[in-house]
Amino acid sequence: MNVPDTSKTASKSAFDSKVVTNKDYEVTVKFANTALELANTHSIPPVPKAYEVWYTYASGTDLKVKTEIDKLINGESSFGPYDIELIHSEFLSSLTKGNNSGGETSVKLEKQMVGILDLMQSHIKSGEDYSGTLNQTMGELSDAENPNQVKKIIEFLIAENTKMRDRTSDLATNLKRSKKQIQTMQTKLKKAQENEMRDSLTNISNRRWFEQSLVKEIAVAREKKTPMCLALIDIDHFKRVNDTYGHVIGDQVLKFFGSLLKKSVKGGDIVARYGGEEFAAILPNTEVANAKVLIENIRTQLESAKLSLSRSRQSIGTVTASFGVTQLRDNDIPETFVKRADKRLYEAKNRGRNRTVGDNDR
Ligand code: GH3
Ligand code: MG
Ligand code: MG
Repeated sequence: MNVPDTSKTASKSAFDSKVVTNKDYEVTVKFANTALELANTHSIPPVPKAYEVWYTYASGTDLKVKTEIDKLINGESSFGPYDIELIHSEFLSSLTKGNNSGGETSVKLEKQMVGILDLMQSHIKSGEDYSGTLNQTMGELSDAENPNQVKKIIEFLIAENTKMRDRTSDLATNLKRSKKQIQTMQTKLKKAQENEMRDSLTNISNRRWFEQSLVKEIAVAREKKTPMCLALIDIDHFKRVNDTYGHVIGDQVLKFFGSLLKKSVKGGDIVARYGGEEFAAILPNTEVANAKVLIENIRTQLESAKLSLSRSRQSIGTVTASFGVTQLRDNDIPETFVKRADKRLYEAKNRGRNRTVGDNDR
């Protein structure tokens, strides 16, 4: 049997190879086994994205993925599926790799633009040819000696004009078609980009969107000289929820809290899943005292929510969260702003959890 030699065409990503030799097969199975063992060791369900991260790590084909995973494994705090998903969206997702749905759409868009330019150029060329023909014919017209000759020239001009009109109509049709295709692709691209900024579990914004929004909102607050606040939130004893009811129920609690956050804030506010069981809220145009009222409202809603298992209706008991709230200062950069909110959150935990600590709560 003729086995294709893939050694020279081996692709960069562990997931890209299309032609597999016997040796490749054995190696692939070895990596796959290692990937599953790693998923098992770290209790991360090997759903497709997580499996891709573990496989990439096992194969050692992506140094950045390796570094990030090593950091998690060797770090002091526990990590969960969300951390693995973050690595996927950072390094392996279709958009960031650029050879995916979003990337393909960009390439198609570019091709469309080139197509339109070609179309316009050929039309301009036709127009130039047409002008050339007209000029030449005008010369012939002034030299015409009898009515028959004039008639022929006029017939010729009418025929040229009809050709030109047909070409213009073709151009309009093609442009219309291209415009429609471009609009469809732009919609797809926008959707793909939005998905990249969304947390798939809770369906609210993810950390990447949070970080971009924070920079933007700080700039707006400075320009408009308006106050703004940031709240960092961490669900209390969430490990217990997982340990008692399992990861799937834990996920449902995170989902519930995500929607509670979202429905409790105003249109201009931005809520995001910051990490595993950590969330954030950017509150533009808000003084810290008002931010605290808003956050306290969220805290009490969570505290009094009657969460129960959907099948057995068994109560999950009270789930609470701790909140750190702080207002933007003149000398803040995003990092110091986040750090201060985190400090307040840490203080809320230290003071017994299920509480909000703001700037003036000493
Ligand atoms: P604390 O009150 O000090 O915050 O205690 P905690 O148990 O909430 O904090 P800890 O950091 O010890 O544990 C957080 C847990 O959240 C551990 C981790 O497995 C879990 N977790 C992180 N991401 C997810 C997720 O996406 N789904 C589920 N079900 N659990 C997650
Ligand atoms: Mg935490
Ligand atoms: Mg917690």
